Amino acid sequence: TVPACREAILAIKPYVPGKPIEEVQRELGVQDVIKLASNENPLGPSPDAVQALREASERVYLYPDGNCYYLKNALAEKLGVSPENIIVGNGTDEIIKMLAETYVNPGDEIVVAEPTFSEYEFAAQVMAGRAIKVPCRSFRHDLKAMAASITPRTRMVFICNPNNPTGTIVGQMVLDSFLKEVPPSVLVVLDEAYADYVTAEHYPDSLAYVRHGRANVIVLRTFSKIYGLAGLRVGYGVAAPEIIRNLNRVREPFNVNLLAQAAAIAALKDEAHYKKSREINIEGKQYLYEQFTALGLQYVPTEANFIFVDIQRDSRAVFQELLKRGVIVRTGDIFGYDNYLRVTIGTPRQNERFIQALREVL
Ligand code: PMP
Repeated sequence: TVPACREAILAIKPYVPGKPIEEVQRELGVQDVIKLASNENPLGPSPDAVQALREASERVYLYPDGNCYYLKNALAEKLGVSPENIIVGNGTDEIIKMLAETYVNPGDEIVVAEPTFSEYEFAAQVMAGRAIKVPCRSFRHDLKAMAASITPRTRMVFICNPNNPTGTIVGQMVLDSFLKEVPPSVLVVLDEAYADYVTAEHYPDSLAYVRHGRANVIVLRTFSKIYGLAGLRVGYGVAAPEIIRNLNRVREPFNVNLLAQAAAIAALKDEAHYKKSREINIEGKQYLYEQFTALGLQYVPTEANFIFVDIQRDSRAVFQELLKRGVIVRTGDIFGYDNYLRVTIGTPRQNERFIQALREVL
């Protein structure tokens, strides 16, 4: 017999990521496949980032700078914080895991919305903690109920803003009052992976909390979405230096690779690509809204680069039919909404192809 693994590990449900394009090509023999499943940038990476990758590739025999000095400095300048306020991770995913490793003891709790991004619960479970799930109201975080769910065992509250999969946001005033209710011993994690797509004016200026020295807030952002670098795995957290120091204790020494650091620095500077990516998302959103309405489908208005849409039938069957037509999306069942699809807003051509396929299937 092999050694038994920790009991908490056996309770973890495996994470099912968006289907890779190659897998659909292999399994279904469809050649022309588009992926609207993982909220990547449909325009791809900034050409400047690609150029930086080429140049950096000659240095891959060297270990990367474990401290991410240049990337942290570039971020600090852009965000108006100090490099001591920043930790960089192998994707935001790694920072979520480091947060759990740093703050969650066995039996501890984290408070999350339902539905929301599953990594928060996963990270807590790895540490033998558990997630208290607070149902959304009209697809929005119910911050009153989330505050009321805090117990002496609560270590962190995760606010996914905009929320994955609903695309809804928590506004500045609601967040301000929520933070007044949270005990200082509880860390509030503001996951802003999709912040760059938000157009609503009441979206919180969350970095201001950090700038003003608030000790129990961390803001998470990523290069995987609008910056188009999901394959390189770069995300970061912004918080009080004390939190950053503690997270650094559990961080692997070379957690962000050399290519990723070089590309992220270049991507950060390419404002034209950023702007274009935002614009194409706004246009695609309008187009998809109109098409859903024409099809008689209800959707949740989004502040992100994906839409949660009610297709009024089992999304798994529709998903399979879309796959045959070379379109990969996400089914809502993983979030507890069997009749919903989550679709990433693509290029105009991709959006049209998705709608065409959806019309055939429905
Ligand atoms: N947070 C949210 C809300 C996400 O949707 C994602 C991507 N699926 C992440 C974090 C993880 O991003 P990264 O690629 O930086 O690990």
